[in-house]
Amino acid sequence: MNIAVLLAGGSGRRMGAPEPKQFIEVAGRTILEHSIRAFSSHAAIDEIVIVSHADYIDRVNTIAKPYEKVRHIVAGGKERYHSTLSAIGLYSSLSPAQQVATNILIHDAVRPLVSHRIISDCIAALRHNSAVDVAIACTDTICEVNADGHIVRIPARSTLRNVQTPQGFHLDTIAQAYSTGLKDPDFITTDDCGVVHRYLPDTGIYVVDGETTNIKITYPEDLILAEKILANDKNA
Ligand code: C5P
Repeated sequence: MNIAVLLAGGSGRRMGAPEPKQFIEVAGRTILEHSIRAFSSHAAIDEIVIVSHADYIDRVNTIAKPYEKVRHIVAGGKERYHSTLSAIGLYSSLSPAQQVATNILIHDAVRPLVSHRIISDCIAALRHNSAVDVAIACTDTICEVNADGHIVRIPARSTLRNVQTPQGFHLDTIAQAYSTGLKDPDFITTDDCGVVHRYLPDTGIYVVDGETTNIKITYPEDLILAEKILANDKNA
């Protein structure tokens, strides 16, 4: 069983648009709908969960109506990880054996350009790994700065990757990582693999090749690239 979770609970403040960026139209559909289509049209995806900001559940319902693989639309939370937890919580009554046998692919709904190749590679990698990330090589040198704005470290670029989504897990693995992590008073994370890496350090996280086009729509200029690529429907 392969479940795709589309995280669409954010407010998209950096875009400066009047509504969250997942509802901006690109190539005739909302960004969220493009993401739904990418997973819905993949033969190995059995069901889709959409996590929405509570204020936009009706809107998401309308967008998702034509897609029968969308089984749940749930409200997210303040931080991205709260939204992940809403989705994981839907499956807490599965037996331990079912949880091991269930793959969950957690995806930023604002990455509408995800390809079937990436989704297939994640699912294939989950046959032999309980956690899978998607990443591309860094083309910029990355520096770490201190609070004064001075460089404290420049890691070797050859070892660095830019992380994308989906991030895939056996359901029991991600549930256990969060259950341990949430007991940490200093818990903080920006993605789901980070929780596994920190709280289940013995779990190897396999990295699948991402794509430069699998961008997270963040800034207005990202819409220009998205428009061009989506107009050709790369998964058609
Ligand atoms: O904020 P960021 O750009 O990392 O968001 C990545 C994805 O996570 C977006 O699709 C956003 O809608 C989602 N998100 C969420 N719940 C939040 C914050 C972000 O589902 N509280």
